[in-house]
Amino acid sequence: MDFSYSPRLAELRESAVELARKIAVYEDECEADNGLGPESRAALRRTVLDSGLQAMNAPVAWGGAGLSWVEQVTVEEELGTLTNGLWAAVWRPTAAALLACTPEQRERYLLPENRGERFGARAITEPDAGSDPRHIATVAERTLDGYRITGEKWFVTMGDVADYLIVLAIVRPDGAPTMFLVDKDAPGVRLVDTPRYTHNFAYEHPHFAFDHVKVGHDAVLGEVGFGLDLVQATFFEERVLVAARAVGAAERALRLASDWARERVQGGQPIIRHQLIQAMLADSAIDIAVNRMLVYRVAWEIDRGGDPRTLNAQVAMAKVSATEAAGRVVDRAVQIFGGRGYMRDNPVERLYRDTRVDRIWMGTSEVQRLMVADEIDKRGLSGLLHFSTAQAEEDAPHETRGPLMEGASR
Ligand SMILES: Cc1cc2nc3c(=O)[nH]c(=O)nc-3n(C[C@H](O)[C@H](O)[C@H](O)COP(=O)(O)OP(=O)(O)OC[C@H]3O[C@@H](n4cnc5c(N)ncnc54)[C@H](O)[C@@H]3O)c2cc1C
Repeated sequence: MDFSYSPRLAELRESAVELARKIAVYEDECEADNGLGPESRAALRRTVLDSGLQAMNAPVAWGGAGLSWVEQVTVEEELGTLTNGLWAAVWRPTAAALLACTPEQRERYLLPENRGERFGARAITEPDAGSDPRHIATVAERTLDGYRITGEKWFVTMGDVADYLIVLAIVRPDGAPTMFLVDKDAPGVRLVDTPRYTHNFAYEHPHFAFDHVKVGHDAVLGEVGFGLDLVQATFFEERVLVAARAVGAAERALRLASDWARERVQGGQPIIRHQLIQAMLADSAIDIAVNRMLVYRVAWEIDRGGDPRTLNAQVAMAKVSATEAAGRVVDRAVQIFGGRGYMRDNPVERLYRDTRVDRIWMGTSEVQRLMVADEIDKRGLSGLLHFSTAQAEEDAPHETRGPLMEGASR
């Protein structure tokens, strides 16, 4: 076993640290204005392109960075240190688009997205369908020349800046869940509401309505009936990233809190000498160390391949564990700062709000636990608890196997 960074990973990590440092200058603007102005967005886009870390899940031939999972986790962890969801400024296409675009759709949507010229946003959740997207009410009626989509979608992250939406709808009369690529300016696409949330995020999460929106056959992403597979593939990828960012967020909070604990004197000595503060610092270090190991291990297992159902459960385990640990760490950091931890100009306060949603989106903690339990029931504990056995050197898959997770959608 080798737990060291390879020279390539160390270099990538440095690039990610540098990129996060450059993006962090926008944190205060984002907090004050609940988002970024057009000039800041344009400047950020150039910064991301200069880093070469745009579309890191997409193949190099398609304008992406073509990173393996371990590499993506290495980068994403650093981006997780950013407050106000600024990690989202480092754009990446959804797994659904990567996996399923036709050559024509690739030219129209994916390649411009990889270059940062167009953005897509996922429109899956509805008022009456969240954790269980099988029960969505949005329908796509077959017409002579395509489909007519009608329904409502909530919480569409980056829906404000996106110029196309990836919409899950049930094709009628077939009853087949299907993903569609829908241009946001298509007649009948309507912005319903832009609610405020706990965090002040770099982008919005608006609600949209689709009033008989006409799309052609070429708007189907993948095949009719494969919508839920693409949703799962997208969630699979996002969950790994959420877990990696949670580790980075937690470490930033602990670093700030431990520096403060050394500096702040109360009761005649730096508060780091008080045992109750020491316990919080130690528990936080343990939470971070354990979850970093877990997240990297899971990324490594995905790179090696394996039973997609077991990988799915491993990812669920990492998401629950890392996000819940980050919640504990950030909460303790607020406590260690005292009243200053409750002030919005303190990054720890912002991380406290920012990290809460990680236990809700991309599948709640409860749903992740169900997936872990399902794995235990159907295939036992080994895939979750044991390392896989090394293969002979010549048989081992290369670390940069590629970003597409074959079949990991189940
Ligand atoms: C800021 C933000 C951004 C988002 N971005 C997007 C986006 O870009 N695109 C998109 O489509 N969606 C997005 N979402 C939606 C998000 O994925 C859903 O909120 C999430 O899947 C949970 O669905 P729900 O809110 O309807 O909660 P529900 O599914 O109604 O769950 C409510 C509670 O019941 C629990 N529960 C549900 N089912 C079970 C079960 N079987 N067993 C036990 N407990 C259960 C849940 O864990 C939760 O505690 C976003 C949400 C937020 C808050």
